[in-house]
Amino acid sequence: MERARPHLTRRRLLQGAALTAVPFALLPGTRAAAAGTRTVDCPAAEWAPASTANYTASSRPVSHPVDRVIIHVTQETYATTLSIFQNPQKNVSAHYVVRSADGHVAQCVREADIAWHAGNWDCNTRSIGIEHEGWVDRPDCFTDALYERSAGLTASVCARYGIPMDRAHIIGHHEVPGTDHTDPGPDWDWVRYLRLVNFV
Ligand SMILES: [Zn+2]
Repeated sequence: MERARPHLTRRRLLQGAALTAVPFALLPGTRAAAAGTRTVDCPAAEWAPASTANYTASSRPVSHPVDRVIIHVTQETYATTLSIFQNPQKNVSAHYVVRSADGHVAQCVREADIAWHAGNWDCNTRSIGIEHEGWVDRPDCFTDALYERSAGLTASVCARYGIPMDRAHIIGHHEVPGTDHTDPGPDWDWVRYLRLVNFV
């Protein structure tokens, strides 16, 4: 983030003014911004990339069909989850993280790439992983905004890959074969969530 930079000098401001005369497309920063925009698969998401050490680069759905959405709960705060995904030592990531308070969505891994979220390689290769800020024993974290924004995201994913919007294809981490994870837990309202996914 550049916004908080405290030492924005007059000289720098003037340089900035001079740059406005340069054609928009020739600015290196503009190209970087454009590339960043292209990386987000869901237009409403903010790009918050995971370390490249924490997922497998791929070319889905050409390399692997995508036919599942896997729902997770972080057991960490939103900010801590993003920092874990950015830590190359952690060996974990998900495509998206949804913030509890307002449903804000961060995209951490491109959908074409294989995020490491299910603890099961076959499931990882065929799924989009969505983390939700919260704890399995704290249903107050599952806000209206979180359900609504997540459902919109899942509906978008399902529409783009032709995934049926049902419980056979939108599953919890606890339903991944061989897992010992319990998320999203008994307080996750699947009936409500599936209704939202189907009617957004
Ligand atoms: Zn999980």
